[in-house]
Amino acid sequence: SVPLSFFGGIGGASRAGVLVKGSNYLEVLAKTQAVAFDKTGTLTDGSFDVVAVHPASGIEPERLLEMAAYAESFSDHPIAVSVKRAYSGAIDEQRIESVIEQSGHGVKAVVDKHVMLVGNDKLMGSEGIDFNDCHLTGTILHVSLDGSYAGHIVIADIVKPNAAEAIAALHKEGVKQTIMLTGDRQDVAASVADQLDIDEFYAQLLPQDKVEQVERLLAQVHNADGHDAKLAFVGDGINDAPVLTRADIGIAMGAMGSDAAIEAADVVLMDDDPASIAKAIRIAKKTMGIVW
Ligand code: ADP
Ligand code: MG
Repeated sequence: SVPLSFFGGIGGASRAGVLVKGSNYLEVLAKTQAVAFDKTGTLTDGSFDVVAVHPASGIEPERLLEMAAYAESFSDHPIAVSVKRAYSGAIDEQRIESVIEQSGHGVKAVVDKHVMLVGNDKLMGSEGIDFNDCHLTGTILHVSLDGSYAGHIVIADIVKPNAAEAIAALHKEGVKQTIMLTGDRQDVAASVADQLDIDEFYAQLLPQDKVEQVERLLAQVHNADGHDAKLAFVGDGINDAPVLTRADIGIAMGAMGSDAAIEAADVVLMDDDPASIAKAIRIAKKTMGIVW
């Protein structure tokens, strides 16, 4: 049977905005020594702004935004949301014939019989589009129209106001290692890791690369501390579901997070506040202290 104090622990966590799906996860939380994070939507706001629009010659900036907004119209990826917000016109869905979203790459859409690609370097590369490799810091969204490069849109990734505090609080709770795993570019990842004082980061990862990284980290963490140290993964997106399941404990953002992530997670942060992770660990440790 489950000791009564476990329920106290779960209740205490829920009052702190942390939903723990089972008392066994309190024990895992208490033993968490390494925390790996997804970036977009987890450490950053996920509702970022378009900061620049750079069309290729002969294309109006508003036309470039329109193409991107149309191609992204059925996506709820944070990048798609920011593009649609920046586009001032209405979207006539009748004009959209088909859309394919390719995780970690972007979208391919047919609009008014034109083939549009909207996504990152990987997407352009895999579709054989010659693109300008711009050396800007920011999340870059390349756009192509019928096989020709049409320009790029720069969107700023803003870290959550208390994300740095959240990382510091984890170290205070005895977490030895913080890691960021992201599909975004190296320079964006480096800038976020630097601002937040994250120990390690890995960029330009596809969803399956994130799984591999988590498996490597699991082996590392388990070997380091007599098999009693645990690895947590924190994420928000559809793509994060496999890693949330794979980690010793999966933590999802509850408010803005995808249903798939919330479903796959063991712990849900109701307020999307990364600072709640350290709170949850503290409550878990207290509860375990009482139980033992
Ligand atoms: P993260 O790991 O930062 O949460 P994702 O794995 O969701 O990011 O996406 C990784 C990268 O794939 C993004 O930075 C972007 O370049 C590209 N991407 C994914 N989905 C889209 C989309 N709907 N539109 C444009 N680009 C996308
Ligand atoms: Mg994400």
